[in-house]
Amino acid sequence: MLDVNTITVIGAGTMGSGIAITAAMAGIDVCQVDVSQEQLEQARGYHEKTLGRNVAKERMTQAQADATLARIGYATETCKAAESQFAIEAATENEAIKKKIFAGMVETYSNDCILATNTSSISIGSIAKSVGPAADRVIGMHFFNPVPVMKLVEVIKCEATSRETLDQTMALGKAMGKTPIAANDHPGFVSNRVLMPMINEAFHAWNDGVADPESIDGIMKLGCAFPMGPLRLADLIGLDVCRDIMLVLHNGLGHPDKYKPCDKLVELVESGRLGNKTGWGVYDYREAAATA
Ligand code: NAD
Repeated sequence: MLDVNTITVIGAGTMGSGIAITAAMAGIDVCQVDVSQEQLEQARGYHEKTLGRNVAKERMTQAQADATLARIGYATETCKAAESQFAIEAATENEAIKKKIFAGMVETYSNDCILATNTSSISIGSIAKSVGPAADRVIGMHFFNPVPVMKLVEVIKCEATSRETLDQTMALGKAMGKTPIAANDHPGFVSNRVLMPMINEAFHAWNDGVADPESIDGIMKLGCAFPMGPLRLADLIGLDVCRDIMLVLHNGLGHPDKYKPCDKLVELVESGRLGNKTGWGVYDYREAAATA
């Protein structure tokens, strides 16, 4: 099995920044790419904070934290391209954007670089088709939020994915300290096929006046032994991401109403309330953030 020592992570938002620091903490060199310089700076700030917390908790020394940060390069186009054995795309959940990025990945990375996507729901087969002969190197590598904490990587193979690509991806997941579990390429895969309709239903329950968000979350937390309620989780994931995943299920699974994003969810997204990342979603985090 190939020893992975360098990867590129395309997209430095919630997920891409988490994947980058998790890989660097596992001893892997990383190029963190984003079209937005501001987003790269935010990612670097998040990396510094995460490492600082680890030093404070005596999980690593300051020297190890410095060495980990030094393993990450930040770029608006590419860095470490020739050495990258994996390019993991974690950009905005939009099929056209992802296909454009994949077309660029085929041009930029070596002929044996594995081309992975962290998409939550977009068809891996459709992305693979768009890269022609490189399709056997395309795979879904679906991390969970927050990446440094969550153990699962859902690995999604499509028809074109080669056995070698699957094996290497499972191995990288393990090398990053995760538990990779494979699934087939259907809308939402396993995790979001099951989770997102529940989150959407929680918005319906709120919209229908069944209970307020705190009560919905409290009931689901205590009643189902969830670590957090579905509305709090939606804020953590990003309400725009939840809306987009519901649209993929809605368009891909062929039921007219079953997977339609709840009006309440759409309303919040359209008003700019996207959850933790904007300081306000179902819940308002702005005061807590100001006093933190
Ligand atoms: P985000 O909005 O926080 O970040 C997306 C980033 O992609 C932004 O920084 C944006 O500038 C960047 N980007 C857009 N176009 C780009 C391009 N052409 N090249 C490089 N960078 C580009 O989104 P996120 O929550 O990190 O989600 C990223 C991906 O991960 C999505 O596919 C999403 O479905 C998936 N995902 C999200 C979660 C979650 O909890 N948020 C969980 C699992 C998977």
